[in-house]
Amino acid sequence: MTGSNPTGDGAISLPAEIINAVRWAEHVVVLTGAGVSAESGVPTFRDAQTGLWATYKPEDLASVAAYRATPKLVWDWYAWRRELVTQAQPNAAHLALTAMQDIYTNFTLITQNVDGLHQRAGSHDVLELHGNLFRYKCLLCDQPATVDEWRHRSDVPACIHCGGAVRPDIVWFGEMLPSRPLAAAQFATRHCDLFLAIGTSSVVFPAAGLPLLAMEKGALVIEINPSETDLSDSAQFSIHDKAGAVLPALVHAKRNPN
Ligand code: NAD
Ligand code: ZN
Repeated sequence: MTGSNPTGDGAISLPAEIINAVRWAEHVVVLTGAGVSAESGVPTFRDAQTGLWATYKPEDLASVAAYRATPKLVWDWYAWRRELVTQAQPNAAHLALTAMQDIYTNFTLITQNVDGLHQRAGSHDVLELHGNLFRYKCLLCDQPATVDEWRHRSDVPACIHCGGAVRPDIVWFGEMLPSRPLAAAQFATRHCDLFLAIGTSSVVFPAAGLPLLAMEKGALVIEINPSETDLSDSAQFSIHDKAGAVLPALVHAKRNPN
């Protein structure tokens, strides 16, 4: 385990083992969490919620029971999050991951984020484990739904097929993860030689199990997170710094071998 050594000029000095791993890796898997979007101004769940929503816990808003009990409240919370994300821009970490996709022949990006910022930065084939704020489906019949106007509505929209309430296509507390991206994430994780866990508190399973699976299969696991997490003790390396500083340094190390 190690931390990075800021050199004082804003650059990050990385241990040789990490630089070598980044240079020689053949199949890289990256798992991102809310921390990767923090530098874009999108709050993580562990951060205090701001303003209007400061008195609510995400656990009390992101569930089927909450939506059934107070649909308008939950809808408005998601509308607020969509507005916030729409105004945000991808940051240096998102852009570095897009660059990695071009550099490595075998590269898989798995995210727990629902903000679509990886795709806006240019990443493709992103495995979204927890859904997306900008997709909708029916609470009753599960069919995809489109919503034209979600601002300032007085009630939640109804499904055109069955009349049920339309909900965000997000994995809520107590729900299963979508099987396709999860299976693809597990497959890639089993076959990678370098696994980066970035900006995730590593407490939400099954996503938190992916770095453990990678280690079990012999991959090197590097965590990038300014704080200690449940993964910090088991990962071979923990770089306690911001994703927006560390990821460009990894790309630089890969592009400049000498
Ligand atoms: P989390 O909120 O539990 O943890 C975020 C982690 O990011 C923390 O460990 C924190 O130390 C770290 N962090 C903060 N700033 C960072 C930075 N600049 N660089 C690197 N790391 C940084 O997030 P989680 O583990 O992703 O789990 C929370 C759940 O909430 C997920 O299911 C996710 O879908 C959802 N969520 C998504 C978003 C989003 O899409 N942007 C935002 C909030 C929550
Ligand atoms: Zn329906």
